[in-house]
Amino acid sequence: LAKSWSTPPEEALRVAAGFDLASADLSATPGWEHGEDAAVKRLRKDGERLGEAQERLYAHGRAGGTRAVLLVLQGMDTAGKGGIVRHVLGLVDPQGVQLRSFGVPTEKERSQPFLQRIREGLPAGGRIGVFDRSHYEDVLVVRVNELVPRAVWEARYDQINTFEREVSEAGTVIVKVALLVSAQEQKARLRERLERPDKYWKYNPGDVDERLKWVRYQEAYQAVLDRTSTEVAPWYAVPADNKWFARLAVGRLLRDAVEGLHLGWPPADFDVEEEKARLDAQPF
Ligand code: AMP
Ligand code: MG
Repeated sequence: LAKSWSTPPEEALRVAAGFDLASADLSATPGWEHGEDAAVKRLRKDGERLGEAQERLYAHGRAGGTRAVLLVLQGMDTAGKGGIVRHVLGLVDPQGVQLRSFGVPTEKERSQPFLQRIREGLPAGGRIGVFDRSHYEDVLVVRVNELVPRAVWEARYDQINTFEREVSEAGTVIVKVALLVSAQEQKARLRERLERPDKYWKYNPGDVDERLKWVRYQEAYQAVLDRTSTEVAPWYAVPADNKWFARLAVGRLLRDAVEGLHLGWPPADFDVEEEKARLDAQPF
């Protein structure tokens, strides 16, 4: 029997009032007391259940249903967003997954309201949408580097909450995950990228300058968690120094979100008995 959480991640990791990023232990595994090997087994089991629920979600979409799930992944460089996509979303049928990565906005995107490219990337009915970075960059990297005036980014927290309420009311369940890596662990991961030719492609010299702004990024993340963790779109603060824990936690959060839709199989929109008879009557 696979080992279980002592406290489910919805409870253990949900950002509540008073959450303090600066004092959080990012190598901790809140709610999980069984270590790495058991976590790998648990994730495999959760992946099977996620896969089954996702197939029902996909069928619902094919039948014209509008429910969807949106997983928002935020985190500093090396926090493990790509690993979540590979190790958690990799457990389900790629057909049902709609992955969008948000990088530096193009010139055209910069001329539009910041939420426009996000709206265009929302999952269609029946899909699990995954945002690798998101509209939160517009109050993180943009705030830290003062890419727009303060009054502009200040107004965005409320705009984001309003937007997410609309998305939720339209039938999409939003799961927001902040992958929290420590500065020491980030340094080790960047160092590893420099040791391994198979990781050079992930290395960006600019990231090394960016990490010097660590304290300001922490403040920006703290503001996001304080101001945008809402009833319809809560944040989960996931300690990510242990990659296996982050994958375990996100796997379970996603499994619960998709299963929580409680979708059955869409009924046949044809007469089953009549179709059987027609098929049986054919000469081959
Ligand atoms: P990566 O995730 O490694 O592909 O890097 C994407 C880069 O795009 C990161 O450095 C982000 O900070 C940056 N980025 C994403 N969204 C925005 C945005 N709205 N404004 C400015 N930079 C952004
Ligand atoms: Mg990068």
